[in-house]
Amino acid sequence: MKFECEECGEVQSCVIDGYSVGDRLLEGVEFHVEIKDGKLKVSTPMPHDIEYMKDLNEKRWHKAIIEAVMDEADDCKCPKCGEYIEIDSGVERKAVAPPKKIEVKRAQDILHDFGIRGIDPDG
Ligand SMILES: [Zn+2]
Repeated sequence: MKFECEECGEVQSCVIDGYSVGDRLLEGVEFHVEIKDGKLKVSTPMPHDIEYMKDLNEKRWHKAIIEAVMDEADDCKCPKCGEYIEIDSGVERKAVAPPKKIEVKRAQDILHDFGIRGIDPDG
């Protein structure tokens, strides 16, 4: 698991707006996600956010934030420069099987498969 900022390189934490998981309920709440011993730790360091979260199911939202980050949410920001960062969860994403190639046969080929000769346009 790592957070990569184009400007600052690898950073140890990222900032994600609560709106990503809680919609308007958590709009403007700054969640900080830190990597500690390979695990993600969520906190809301801003005093008014701490106060606000007291009235909510904090644990549940912290879990939702972790899930969003693990899912490589694209709305995480660098704590240093505020730019959006890349998240590498280190988990191989399940490869999506390529769509089956559908062979489109021409009518003539189908006729040929049945042992029927195509109609000669000149004949
Ligand atoms: Zn940065």
